[in-house]
Amino acid sequence: MRCILSIDVEDWFHILDVPGAPKPSDWEHLPSRIEIGMMKLFEILAQCNTKATFFFLGWIAERFPHLVIEADTYGHEIASHGYLHELAYRMTPSEFLDDITRSKKILEDTIGKPVRGFRGAGFSLTEATPWFFEKLIEAGFLYDSSLFPASRQHGGMNVEKRAPYKVVEMPRVFYEIPISVVDILGKPLCLFGGGYLRLFPYGLIRKMAHKVLSEKRPVVFYVHPREVDPDHPRMQMSLARRFKSYVNLRTTEPKLQKILHDFEVTTFIDFIKVELCEENVA
Ligand SMILES: [Zn+2]
Repeated sequence: MRCILSIDVEDWFHILDVPGAPKPSDWEHLPSRIEIGMMKLFEILAQCNTKATFFFLGWIAERFPHLVIEADTYGHEIASHGYLHELAYRMTPSEFLDDITRSKKILEDTIGKPVRGFRGAGFSLTEATPWFFEKLIEAGFLYDSSLFPASRQHGGMNVEKRAPYKVVEMPRVFYEIPISVVDILGKPLCLFGGGYLRLFPYGLIRKMAHKVLSEKRPVVFYVHPREVDPDHPRMQMSLARRFKSYVNLRTTEPKLQKILHDFEVTTFIDFIKVELCEENVA
């Protein structure tokens, strides 16, 4: 089984849940680094002839449409990370629908193709958002990858569902492809993105990725453009949070290179078509 590589396209100031973090009205005035991280990722992926799924924030796509077009031209999949990077459980169902519809339309207008995938900010699909899938289906999405099947600081849900599954089949099929977790000392952890990808040695990450594959699940890797741009500005935050957000930042790029060397990775949409044998995808 192949693995999946996803890139959550957001800037250095989009880190969630940091007290005193810049508000959307301030974002405009901050020096963006998104092009630096994106160019680096395009280069790494082109070298390995690998395609990935790019979950763009609508706010980024609106300001940097050339990045969306370039990703599409390279053959990567364009998907949505919402418009304003709001946690789903802090929105009403109708605010959520507005946010995801807005981001989807910006991306589709930019590339002239349907956008089928979604990942919510901070994996904010929780018990507090029972309407999450219903709204994504209403907005016309085919799949979601926001389920983090373990407890975490924000988002996450302690559920047994770890493998990709069909949420509904009628009248239209809709898939959930959860973030990959493995049990380490009895605790479900994800070593394939975020702080743990940076913290743990590559040997352990590779071993655990093989464990996921042996359980007949794809490994869903995820990185952010800021993680391959280690010189980006830092946000003010508590010491513990600072560790989680910035530990071993310089290891992301070499680890990503090794992942691409050791594993066959693809986009979500290709995985759904080929591995899940979904015929209803153009
Ligand atoms: Zn995000």
